[in-house]
Amino acid sequence: MFGLDKAFKKKFGRRDFLKYCASIAVLLGLSEMYVPQIAKALEKVTSGKQPVIWLHGAECTGCTVSFANSNYPNVAELVLDTLSIQYHETLMAASGEVAERALEQAVDKFRGKYIMVVEGAIPTKDNGIYCQVGGKTFLSMVQHVASGAAYKVAMGTCASFGGIPAAGTNPTGCKSLKDVIGGTVVNIPGCPPHPDWLVGTIVNLLLFGKAPELDQYGRPKIFYEKLIHENCPRRGGYEQGQFIKRFGEELPAIEGCMGAKGCRGLVTSADCPHRLWNSGTNFCIAAGAPCAGCVEPSFPKFPLYEPLPEVAKIMKAEDIENRTAEGNNGITLGAAAASAVAAAGATYYLGQKAKEKEGGE
Ligand code: SF4
Ligand code: SF4
Repeated sequence: MFGLDKAFKKKFGRRDFLKYCASIAVLLGLSEMYVPQIAKALEKVTSGKQPVIWLHGAECTGCTVSFANSNYPNVAELVLDTLSIQYHETLMAASGEVAERALEQAVDKFRGKYIMVVEGAIPTKDNGIYCQVGGKTFLSMVQHVASGAAYKVAMGTCASFGGIPAAGTNPTGCKSLKDVIGGTVVNIPGCPPHPDWLVGTIVNLLLFGKAPELDQYGRPKIFYEKLIHENCPRRGGYEQGQFIKRFGEELPAIEGCMGAKGCRGLVTSADCPHRLWNSGTNFCIAAGAPCAGCVEPSFPKFPLYEPLPEVAKIMKAEDIENRTAEGNNGITLGAAAASAVAAAGATYYLGQKAKEKEGGE
């Protein structure tokens, strides 16, 4: 369970606390008028009235590491300093029987009130024996904790859709949280998810007493509505058929598109291009890597680094040769149709560059 302790207010003061609440309002796309309500909602957490129980299954713990990097406030403040954690298998101080008792006490005491966060897929084969905590299967733990939860949140692609543990032959029968318990589950996919996506969802639950509007895959639309491709800084390259052929390559006149390297931004919905990662520093594509589609149910059940069919159609012969030379699986493609989109793309790109110059960048 989390509760912002008194040290938080002491350390940050009322003014900082309200600044923090204002940043949450921005995160949720709300006006400043909501700041007092957000403050009230967070004070619910402060006073321990809104417990969260966080369980770990088949996963790598990367989602916790990502959450711990939350900007609001930062990792040390949010996780280590300001949160009073009673049950989180990675972060809690207790272990062994003490930890098991803490979970039972939390479930009993806060039945019907707590938010359950599940990180990791749930192995179900052979009654779930392939993932156990304290001699109990993770499957039975999830079912037990879910029975008393007010809200259920799947943190990360493994808990949301099965992810990496469910890929390939899926020998342990890994399933998503929703597939195991049914009902309404808020999915916060990502490998890992952006910390804002969970912080924003929890505040939304507290503020409005319900989950944010969800898309067809159970994801909050406020974070997962737009295709990466729509806001991509390399979009001009795509429109002109200018693809990066080697990782690290820089094209002389344009930010080359990562499509030939398997970018899945065309079929992936998340706000990474404008939210940015690592405290607003960068994101995959801007850093020179293709979007791996980590927030989609199909992740990672596709060949990484293979161009999507819509990209393959506009790749030039030289792009294809280079891919083969770099050791990617050879692909058989027709010659380029890039010129068809080049004119429109050039106009778009030059317009963007002109805007950037006007803005003094
Ligand atoms: S394919 Fe990927 S790199 Fe290219 S424009 Fe779309 S999102 Fe950006
Ligand atoms: S850019 Fe793509 S791969 Fe990178 S974090 Fe966002 S959705 Fe995941």
